[in-house]
Amino acid sequence: MERRLFSLIFAFSFLLFSGSVFADEIGQHFVHGLASYSQEITLEFASPEEAAAAELTKLEMPIGKKLAVSSRWDDSSREHLLMSRTLAENGWKGTFFLNKCDESYAQDIVSRLVKDGHSIGIHTTRHPHLEQVEPNRMFEEILGNRVMLESVNDLCASTFTFPFGLGRDTEDSLTTAHEQGIALVRAGLLGGPESINMAERLGLKPEQFVSPYRFVANDSDPQLETFEKGWKTGENLIAEGKSTIGPYIALGTHSWQRRVHQDGFERLGNILATKSNLSEIWYCDSNEYTAYRLNFLFAEIKKKSVNGNRAVFVISRIEPQETAAVVDLGVKVSPLPQKALFSHGKILSVNDSGEFMIPNEASQTLPVHIDRIDNPENGPADAETLISTEFPGLKIGSQIDLEKNVLNIVITNETGKTITKVKGHIRLPLKWKGETPLWFVEKIENKSTLKMNVSLGEIESSNRFRKGELFIDNQCDFLVDGEVGRIHSTVTIRETAEN
Ligand SMILES: [Zn+2]
Repeated sequence: MERRLFSLIFAFSFLLFSGSVFADEIGQHFVHGLASYSQEITLEFASPEEAAAAELTKLEMPIGKKLAVSSRWDDSSREHLLMSRTLAENGWKGTFFLNKCDESYAQDIVSRLVKDGHSIGIHTTRHPHLEQVEPNRMFEEILGNRVMLESVNDLCASTFTFPFGLGRDTEDSLTTAHEQGIALVRAGLLGGPESINMAERLGLKPEQFVSPYRFVANDSDPQLETFEKGWKTGENLIAEGKSTIGPYIALGTHSWQRRVHQDGFERLGNILATKSNLSEIWYCDSNEYTAYRLNFLFAEIKKKSVNGNRAVFVISRIEPQETAAVVDLGVKVSPLPQKALFSHGKILSVNDSGEFMIPNEASQTLPVHIDRIDNPENGPADAETLISTEFPGLKIGSQIDLEKNVLNIVITNETGKTITKVKGHIRLPLKWKGETPLWFVEKIENKSTLKMNVSLGEIESSNRFRKGELFIDNQCDFLVDGEVGRIHSTVTIRETAEN
């Protein structure tokens, strides 16, 4: 964390902006590199003594849930429609990890998956063996896929699966597993249904890649026995304390169920039905589990004040658009309160054990629109062409100055409204060391322009990191008219002199 704070202060010392922005503000807006916000809960007790003694703690799982179960389905297949329905009919959820996705795939397939309660994830643009491509290409395969899928579908994506699985590190590897892990973190991808403790194989901390025990039912010829064996193994590993990210398993991997039998999806449905509607299971998609897990780890609860028989707690939690899921947080209070009051006087129901779920604030939603504005030739950041089509009147340009080692950002607001809580993640390829530079601006008034130069930090010396094109995404999240919006302001640059 130390290094990030340093680079932020550095970045902010270069801020050219008429308003006032303070470096120490950044800590209020991000936690572990993820945008966060605060909310208050008021708990009413039988006596002032009870209020004074009250303690509120987080629950590792939603109330009453012992095991999280998800599923993973890879590649841009049209059979996903059948998978989606089969899962939904049995109360299961899943994440579909896609490569190519044009407008018609988005309309015909993705919209249906979402209607059935599922989500989408990242699986690279061209489906390469990631260890067989150069670092810049590897990064673009991941980040380019995310920018494309999010903007075409207007959906956030926070999880990832490896094409062909994770390769072995050998002398011939063009990128290592650890470099791929760093690229995923930089791209804002927080986990995925890979294999138990995948983070370790990527040289990351457990919470940097939230991955379940993954099991199969035989994709092309679904078998109950195989499914049951996998499920049991997952339960056993979790019971033995082997999972570093909590009780989480996921079924996968391909929508190939009709390959051997025409009724393959029915066969899979019958198998899923054996583990349907179980009250102790949390049927979730991978974004939801990851969102819950990261909030369980990183959300902060502080007792703010006690007034008579009331105690007020402040909860700082991750903004939903960071994790691509709006998920309630489970907590437990002791002693047992008489009442739990949420914002606007809304009452939350507390069970006999003092457990209750805290929803996100109503304003904390996923973006309705996600746009991309590309600067493919690294032209000036204030170029007239760098306009948003989904947010009329908004211009965002990003340009790399390699000599000064900064990203020039120009944001012009002619939307007729004030844009607030503008925050950015600068997603850099591996040529730059350290963590993703972050920035935050409280508001950009109508008819005003914000210009920033953000320092990009230390550079790798090896020429490996200069080959091919460097793809950078300045991911901007903001509120316009009280609605969450996202624009990926991308820039592509080739270091011709080095090649
Ligand atoms: Zn694949």
